[in-house]
Amino acid sequence: NADLAMYEAKMNGRNAVYFFDPDINARHQRRHLLEEGLREAIAGAQLFLQYQPRFDICAKQVLAAEALVRWNHPKQGVISPGEFIPIAEESELIVEIGRFVLNEACCEAAALYRDGYEILISVNLSPRQLRDRDLLRDIHDALSRYDLPPRLLEFEITETYVMENIEQFIPILTQIRELGVRLAVDDFGTGYSSLMYLKKLPVNTVKIDHSFIHDVPGDVDDENLVRAIISMSHNLRLRVVAEGVETAEQLQFLRELHCDEIQGFLLGRPGSTDQLRRLSRPSLIAP
Ligand code: C2E
Ligand code: MG
Ligand code: MG
Ligand code: MG
Repeated sequence: NADLAMYEAKMNGRNAVYFFDPDINARHQRRHLLEEGLREAIAGAQLFLQYQPRFDICAKQVLAAEALVRWNHPKQGVISPGEFIPIAEESELIVEIGRFVLNEACCEAAALYRDGYEILISVNLSPRQLRDRDLLRDIHDALSRYDLPPRLLEFEITETYVMENIEQFIPILTQIRELGVRLAVDDFGTGYSSLMYLKKLPVNTVKIDHSFIHDVPGDVDDENLVRAIISMSHNLRLRVVAEGVETAEQLQFLRELHCDEIQGFLLGRPGSTDQLRRLSRPSLIAP
């Protein structure tokens, strides 16, 4: 097959690059398809949110959930954000997607609140959104449109880009906090994390990246890192969430270190708000 591809490459002259590596060719085609389709996805209601529970270790119940966007493509089926968000981030489309996610998440959080569930919903923010002039107004509008108490909304920002340009982002982050909503640093530990940065940022929460959780307990280096992140964050009066918790051993380890919350497949995969309602009934959470 590779020989055939090589042969075709030679025969096709300047189209050679398309035949040289069939894998790259397939990837290019899919990327092109997604780029083209994304605009329609926003207009045509193909995007939807799933909610992954965050388990409060002290309260022993679900008090928060992360909103995660999915794309139900008419031909390709459900596509994960890991694939299409980076594409959207290269264009203005991420701003529109972000606005959809914000509104949808506030709408669902408000519905839960009306039914008596105090569940904080966290929403991922892209760097491009933080630079958008309308962001603050959009957040304010979404909160008032759905009559959502701001304390039930949190934004997750990934550390890499914010830390690199920290001075530039502090004003907007401070303004967001002044609306009464919360801020979390997502994927903590993967980028330019530094305590000084954490101290400077107006954030409430640190989410430890799943790559540090994967091999604990057992990997002594990772154990020490997780322990250090938790204790340093607590010294700065920040709340700590561990991501990607898949085993009871990980939960026990994190409980001993006084981690505040866990998120991961052990407790629940991303799902509907009905799943959140079921999980949030205190009677269903083991003591
Ligand atoms: P993230 O914000 O770090 O979200 C956590 C990801 O880890 C989710 O993948 C979630 O399904 C996955 N995960 C949760 N628990 C476990 C576990 O126990 N084990 C493993 N292996 N994975 C787990 P997902 O939903 O595919 O999202 C991937 C990334 O896409 C997110 O990472 C976030 O950076 C981005 N993303 C998702 N929704 C949005 C959005 O609305 N806006 C923006 N800007 N980015 C989004
Ligand atoms: Mg996140
Ligand atoms: Mg994360
Ligand atoms: Mg991530």
